[in-house]
Amino acid sequence: MKTKLFRDIGYLVFILLALSSCVNEMDMVEDEQELETGISRSYPADTWTKYLINYEGSTQDKYALAKVENCLEYLYRFIPDIQYVVDHLITRGLKVRIKVSNVPGGSNESWYNPSYPPEIGFNGEINITMGRVLHELLHMFSFNTYDSYRQELDLACEEYEIRVLTDLYMRRYFRSYSHKYQGMHSLNHDYNSYIAWLDEIINDSDYSVDNFVPKFKEFGVSWILDLKDAKMHLVDVLGYKPLLVRTLWFYKEKK
Ligand SMILES: [Zn+2]
Repeated sequence: MKTKLFRDIGYLVFILLALSSCVNEMDMVEDEQELETGISRSYPADTWTKYLINYEGSTQDKYALAKVENCLEYLYRFIPDIQYVVDHLITRGLKVRIKVSNVPGGSNESWYNPSYPPEIGFNGEINITMGRVLHELLHMFSFNTYDSYRQELDLACEEYEIRVLTDLYMRRYFRSYSHKYQGMHSLNHDYNSYIAWLDEIINDSDYSVDNFVPKFKEFGVSWILDLKDAKMHLVDVLGYKPLLVRTLWFYKEKK
């Protein structure tokens, strides 16, 4: 009886040892892959990003792709509104290619191109930052959500809503991360008041969309005069009606 018990325990120990060596081997394979690609993954390979990224048409630069995936992962993990945005896009089956090009002196640091197949692009790996990934993700969401933005009727309003929202999220959730603010040029004399306005919105839980609109127009005019882009019209900003910020930042007001 005792012999059988010892034999059974022996089998059990053998099975446990075999299992643990399998796990170690899997760890080793992963470590070797990371060494090979130079990429340290902070999350399992099998993530939700495969439902949003069209890998077939994307860049083959594994490092650049992993950088975009990491940004998306952080944005999704820490910003509840972005979880809503991503879930919404995935539920609708919308996917995007990730492109990286190198145009020396190119004016576009990043872009969202909605024509089929849609793509999010970055001018060089250096422009893959959380702020730029967030900005283009919001373009993808707004293009697929609002008719007036899809028809490019209010380019300046869409662009400025996205810039202000990106700055609000970056300042609220990633304050220690180096972020180039998009809603006002740092040399503009309105820069400090713009940053103070962001803080006011973030810190005042009662800040309403009605308070938001006049300030949006005021800073939007200052931004557009700096920009000097013929496609962005001052008159659009002056007639601004909140869309994206109402769905995302001020959504609580509708409840
Ligand atoms: Zn933009």
